[in-house]
Amino acid sequence: MRQIDHFMPTPSPAPARKAQVWNPSTGEIQAEVALGDAALLEQAVATAKSVQPEWAATNPQKRARVMFKFKELIEENMQELAELLSSEHGKVVDDAKGDVQRGLEVIEFACGIPQVLKGEYTPGAGPGIDVYSMRQPLGIGAGITPFNFPAMIPMWMFGMAIAAGNAFILKPSERDPSVPVRLAELFVEAGAPEGLLQVVHGDKEMVDAILDHPDIPAISFVGSSDIANYIYHRGAEHGKRVQAFGGAKNHGIVMPDADLDQVVNDLTGAAFGSAGERCMALPVVVPVGEDTANRLREKLLPAIAALRIGVSNDPEAHYGPVVTPEHKARIEQWIDTAEAEGGEIVVDGRGFSLQGHEDGFFVGPTLIDHVTPQMSSYQEEIFGPVLQIVRAKDFEEAVRLPSEHQYGNGVAIFTRNGHAAREFASRVNVGMVGINVPIPVPVSYHSFGGWKRSGFGDIDQYGTEGLAFWTKKKKVTQRWPDGSPDGGNAFVIPTMG
Ligand code: NAD
Repeated sequence: MRQIDHFMPTPSPAPARKAQVWNPSTGEIQAEVALGDAALLEQAVATAKSVQPEWAATNPQKRARVMFKFKELIEENMQELAELLSSEHGKVVDDAKGDVQRGLEVIEFACGIPQVLKGEYTPGAGPGIDVYSMRQPLGIGAGITPFNFPAMIPMWMFGMAIAAGNAFILKPSERDPSVPVRLAELFVEAGAPEGLLQVVHGDKEMVDAILDHPDIPAISFVGSSDIANYIYHRGAEHGKRVQAFGGAKNHGIVMPDADLDQVVNDLTGAAFGSAGERCMALPVVVPVGEDTANRLREKLLPAIAALRIGVSNDPEAHYGPVVTPEHKARIEQWIDTAEAEGGEIVVDGRGFSLQGHEDGFFVGPTLIDHVTPQMSSYQEEIFGPVLQIVRAKDFEEAVRLPSEHQYGNGVAIFTRNGHAAREFASRVNVGMVGINVPIPVPVSYHSFGGWKRSGFGDIDQYGTEGLAFWTKKKKVTQRWPDGSPDGGNAFVIPTMG
């Protein structure tokens, strides 16, 4: 059995506990991953502390060169990374390349670190006085990441943190831990000092050790909302800086004037791609008006029937299995619940079996109509290939639905009416909005972050917000007197005259 170990320069002791890593396409256990504890974390922190000061003192251009080399190595190894990722996660290989690519784009942004770290300077803020600011690294940053983007989300975090001069300890999901380790290996190959980026595997025990460790001042988390909430509070209790992103239930509003063929194309990809295991998936569609709902449903049916579900390395497959047998069971239970609550199961993906891969964790595409806001299957995240139709009578209701939902990650509106789109974008109470864009993940030089129970803490991931998260800003007011008396009075608060 393949063993997946922590990635640290110091030898790690034989693990007391391990977790199994599935191959979701075949239903077989393909590897075991070591689960670390507080003692192992202590070792990682000691290493990080020993290498971080020199890295922080390395000039930004040299740090950027390492990021550039890392970017090249990821590109050279793209196929291998995507296949490894796909085999543990279950998403198809092309989609896995997208996962790597969206993380790589943050590394590309981090290559520009000399430019974004320049700071602010005001000469002559007062007589002989200049004011400037500088961003200094925090020391050791930690990232705790979910299973569904095992390349992208770690790179969002460590790309910015390390470029800014921090050391980084990554605790990836124990479900698909191999790609984070591979990325850390490539980072050393790119010239990063050993120990600057370490990967420690584990579950709650390791996460709690990170949350409580006095030498880790900042934690970035992405995962489900209850855990995000827990991470935020426990981390903050220890005086840490915490950003914690949670679950989602993104809505796609379809206005009566939308190009429905385009909408159906976008929706099938956004609802069923990656088996719906994306925090920016579109699992709820809100057609405005009964006529729009009926026309959309008619067009969705053949598009769903044409979906091809396959093993993750099938190049023809639109989507593959879900991540674990427990998750498959949970998704099917949600479909049961939706039915019991009065939803109409128009297309039923329960009990789906792929010929030749009967033990794989496949769930067929599911379409549920006449879903209402009172249903728990609407209120909660399902995180599977399940699309729910919630019919809105007018635009106002369509704005209200995502605005009042407990999650506020992403939302999309499909329309040809610029005024309606603009109005929607301005009023909706959700963090990321797409206008005729089904998955509005902002590019790496903007920033990513949801609202309400999709995001705890107030600073986004990546872009200049990411830089702000991983650094502290020092403000310097300097005065170089020319020697002549300035008549100042030391007993009043200084002003600039
Ligand atoms: P998860 O919350 O189960 O796990 C996330 C991380 O937390 C993992 O590293 C895991 O080991 C750790 N963890 C699990 N249980 C813990 C506990 N009790 N105490 C401390 N740590 C614990 O999430 P997941 O199933 O890996 O990922 C799917 C979830 O992540 C979905 O809810 C999805 O919407 C969300 N997600 C959100 C975003 C976003 O940007 N908002 C992005 C991707 C995924």
